[in-house]
Amino acid sequence: MLPFIRSDLAQFNAYKPHPSSDTAEPVDTSTQIDRLDTNESAEDLPPQLKLELVQTYQELIENNRYPDGGHEELKNLIASYVNESAHLSPYVFSTANISVGNGSDELIRSLLIASCLSGEGSILVAQPTFSMYGILAQTLGIPMVTVPRKETNFAIDLQAAQAAIETTQHPPIRAVFVVHPNSPTGNTLTTPELAWLRSLPEQVLVVIDEAYFEFSQTTLVGELSQHPNWVVLRTFSKAFRLAAHRIGYCIAHPDAIAILEKVRLPYNLSSFSLAAGLIAMNNHQLLLASVPQTLAERTKLIQALRQNPALKVWDSAANFIFLRLQSNDFASQGADIKTIHQQLKASGTLVRQIHHGLRITVGTAIENDRTLKRMQAVLATLPCVSS
Ligand SMILES: *Cc1c(COP(=O)(O)O)cnc(C)c1O
Repeated sequence: MLPFIRSDLAQFNAYKPHPSSDTAEPVDTSTQIDRLDTNESAEDLPPQLKLELVQTYQELIENNRYPDGGHEELKNLIASYVNESAHLSPYVFSTANISVGNGSDELIRSLLIASCLSGEGSILVAQPTFSMYGILAQTLGIPMVTVPRKETNFAIDLQAAQAAIETTQHPPIRAVFVVHPNSPTGNTLTTPELAWLRSLPEQVLVVIDEAYFEFSQTTLVGELSQHPNWVVLRTFSKAFRLAAHRIGYCIAHPDAIAILEKVRLPYNLSSFSLAAGLIAMNNHQLLLASVPQTLAERTKLIQALRQNPALKVWDSAANFIFLRLQSNDFASQGADIKTIHQQLKASGTLVRQIHHGLRITVGTAIENDRTLKRMQAVLATLPCVSS
């Protein structure tokens, strides 16, 4: 360990962006590789929008100049989109309610800095959930308290969560992170979970991550005005097909937005990313036209996988599904899930192995057909499953 580095950083591992693709066995070159491990959109931008981006780059972007550091134009379009997509009046949210980040990951870090840094707060999450909250908290020396979810429907153990809020000290819980719908399990917040979030005191920041809003069409932005301690996170990395450009945004009370603006890096988004974000917002209907097909493909995938009695497949409100083997014995199942994950990878399908199960991104119709075929072939080779 380098002697000038903070002692607690010694035990951390760097985030591995594509765990499965990094370590993929070399498959023969005729094999089609399906990257269904990171919940990206299966489709790139339509050609005419790609061309528009190229033209913007050639004609409007000055490489020698800093980008627009205030993001006004993009925030304006985002605010309109948020109002419109939540069926609110066009005046509910304006640029004062929006902060833009280099991916929502940057906003998560900014929220942690703003609420918990310097020993002022811990965070609370219910496992399994998006790993980035814990990873970013850890790098900032912010403690994380975890509570479990029910194994049947992955609803948060609210008794444990409430107890954590009441008893955690030195430092107390200052931020609760929920994903709506949750990753990797695909479930939306339930009525009791919502009631609990509404009951949290104002000194606890509630972060509602709606990364999959375009697929779930469920949002809590309509309640933000009643809860100054709530913020909603969204991203352009999923339904808007811009994972390459790293754009996320936060919707919140203007006071909370002002804090986020204080802690963010200047020029946090490149001019090229900003141009891509503007094009996506100006063409959101065109981009979101593929969502119904993704949802239909999700239903097809779930129904087909449920035909196999060895698999337990959950419903999902997002663009991915979560499954496990039927047996509840995680110890013996763990080895089988690992084998399935590795064999799928060897046959060309990359999925995420997580929490005793697999998370599979819904791909194109062709990719999903291949997933089903490859899954069937892999399961047939497992003695404990095929019997
Ligand atoms: C994919 C995802 C994000 C997106 O992060 P970006 O940094 O915007 O790419 C955020 N939250 C959750 C829960 C996600 O699954």
